[in-house]
Amino acid sequence: MGATFVIGGDGVFAKVLPAYRGGGVFGDAWIHCLLCDSISHNRHDVENRYCGACHLFHDIVEEGRRLVVYGAAHECSEWAPARGLCALCGGEV
Ligand SMILES: [Zn+2]
Ligand SMILES: [Zn+2]
Repeated sequence: MGATFVIGGDGVFAKVLPAYRGGGVFGDAWIHCLLCDSISHNRHDVENRYCGACHLFHDIVEEGRRLVVYGAAHECSEWAPARGLCALCGGEV
């Protein structure tokens, strides 16, 4: 593992990169997937924090990243977003 992570407490959360950004007001909200760089205004995507291009739920990706920081094993091919890099560790799939 190349990066040095602070393990424990809020330090872990600080080191976990967000998988998305979102904003906007009700009826005109948006979500920007940081995995594939696509922006969706689809209400269901916004509500579920889902990327239709990656076929991934961002909450699950961020939780997975947290677990990886703690040292959990994962199968990169199961976390491949549209861009072809593992959503959890950034490794090539
Ligand atoms: Zn995406
Ligand atoms: Zn991976």
